[in-house]
Amino acid sequence: MDKHLAEPISFNLAAADAAALKDLLQTTDKNLRDALLAAARTAAIKQFGHNIYIRGLIEFTNYCKNDCYYCGIRCSNQKARRYRLTKEQILSCCESGYQLGFRTFVLQGGEDPFFTDAVMVDIIKAIKTDYPDTAITLSIGERSYASYKAMYDAGADRYLLRHETANPEHYARLHPVKLSLANRLECLQMLKEIGYQVGTGFMVGSPYQTIDNLIEDLLFVRDFKPQMIGIGPFIPHHDTPFHNQVAGTMEQTLRLIAILRLMLPKALIPSTTALGTIAPDGREQGILAGANVVMPNLSPIEVRKDYLLYDNKICTGEEAAECNFCLQSRLQSIGYKIVVDRGDYKE
Ligand code: SF4
Repeated sequence: MDKHLAEPISFNLAAADAAALKDLLQTTDKNLRDALLAAARTAAIKQFGHNIYIRGLIEFTNYCKNDCYYCGIRCSNQKARRYRLTKEQILSCCESGYQLGFRTFVLQGGEDPFFTDAVMVDIIKAIKTDYPDTAITLSIGERSYASYKAMYDAGADRYLLRHETANPEHYARLHPVKLSLANRLECLQMLKEIGYQVGTGFMVGSPYQTIDNLIEDLLFVRDFKPQMIGIGPFIPHHDTPFHNQVAGTMEQTLRLIAILRLMLPKALIPSTTALGTIAPDGREQGILAGANVVMPNLSPIEVRKDYLLYDNKICTGEEAAECNFCLQSRLQSIGYKIVVDRGDYKE
């Protein structure tokens, strides 16, 4: 038996109601809490073995036209030092990533009008021409159906768009009035319809979030059935309206990862950098709670510190190879290994 596994208890979360989910999030029974995490870990091992998929994160622009209250690169943060990577710089990140064994590249950025459909299509095609055996994941926010379709037709495979909170009133407290949950959800539907493998997710412990909001998030994710689920603790950024808010907790994030793993056993769930930021072994703990993906940073070292969505973000000072090696050793220490694989969602 895996050395980290406690006595198995079976949890049927595919159909659990709100009250049962609330109990799991709030229980003070340590045995139940440990059994939840152990069951999630077992479910992940059954699906993926001790293999962990890696995604090479390329943060290619920190310009953003939006003003989300929690985000360090929101447009009204005058102190953010802005940058955009060129196509050549992006391809160079892919080259070093490919050599390190990455077979998925995640192009992440703010909603930057510079990156029109034509510009994105050109970049996607160039990556797919040079690295045809890789998957491209986009994480560039809300766009039109035509835009999503053009990028999909150019070769993009996956799209990450966190819904952030499934409650419209809560959404309105985190975002300016021109951003709405309705539009976010419409974008998610469009992405699914076009054929992307879709990822969604939310912040844990964001300002004004209630336990009922988290239950709404869980039920939304279970109904939507995304192929990828990204959650991480809210961490305040010093130059945002939420600078003095309290960060989300490791404990709640771990329980939520475990619940999501048991709800959607085949989903690709990253152990996020935000988890690694609130605790030195946060990413390892995420894996042991049922996550199966890590996303090391492939962005050029000189821009890493400028893509600061929240304070104290880790891995902003090391080269990609160093990050990869560090993660490999961390995962090995808990009995897991990184695999060279696109890591697609499998039915
Ligand atoms: S969260 Fe995303 S859309 Fe909102 S300001 Fe930050 S980068 Fe822009």
